[in-house]
Amino acid sequence: MTKKVLYEGKAKQLFETEKPSELIQFFKDDATAFNKKKHEIIDSKGVLNNLISEFIFTYLGNNNIPNHFIERLSPREQLIKKVEIIPIEVVVRNIAAGTFTNRFGIEEGKNLPKTLIEFNLKDDENDDPLVSEEHMKVFGWAKENDIETMKKYAFEINNLLSKLFKKINIILVDFKIEFGRYYSNNHYDIILADEISPDSCRLWDMSSNKKLDKDRFRRNLGGLIEAYKEVATRLKIDLSDI
Ligand code: UDP
Repeated sequence: MTKKVLYEGKAKQLFETEKPSELIQFFKDDATAFNKKKHEIIDSKGVLNNLISEFIFTYLGNNNIPNHFIERLSPREQLIKKVEIIPIEVVVRNIAAGTFTNRFGIEEGKNLPKTLIEFNLKDDENDDPLVSEEHMKVFGWAKENDIETMKKYAFEINNLLSKLFKKINIILVDFKIEFGRYYSNNHYDIILADEISPDSCRLWDMSSNKKLDKDRFRRNLGGLIEAYKEVATRLKIDLSDI
């Protein structure tokens, strides 16, 4: 029986399983940027993101960050808990980069005085606008408690990932995460969902500042797969299948 696609995003698909509380997350090779204006298929990117995201979600789970990851099923698929995604991209920034530098006229690479959390509405038609906590509450995208939980986890995830990457000589510049509501018995918990991979983080080599993330695609630098493999290899992820 072919599985039913419940959702198709830019880089992933979600399929239903026999269990209503579980889904399969499938990682595609599609790379998009600038709200899909730039699009390419990059052979084996999906496999690398699946493996790297598995590694990171397992590490975060072992460090008390509840998340949707259950197990990896194949090179491109993982079994996950079904959540209701909160339609907000939570962006955590340690160093100025990307759209942030244009918005505030700050030079790329400048250390921020403190870690900064920003929220963007997931709304491709309007280019994912930056929103405040008040917008989230007024429009009902997230309640005050949900926002506090997301912020608490976002700071903890930043500390854990910064430490993890520092050990392998990589600077965690910024990253984007998404959360979902996991329902059981008329109650929900906020848990980390989606993926964390070089598609959703900025990762710079600590010695050379070389970009080891999706900016290689956004900025036409080439060598994206080599960079993602470098991240996976430093994390000691087994790449013998690809
Ligand atoms: N990011 C993401 N998905 C998006 C937008 C941003 O994963 O739709 C990540 C991006 O890879 C970076 C961080 O969030 O690590 C901050 O991105 P920024 O807001 O600077 O936007 P960008 O310059 O990537 O458009």
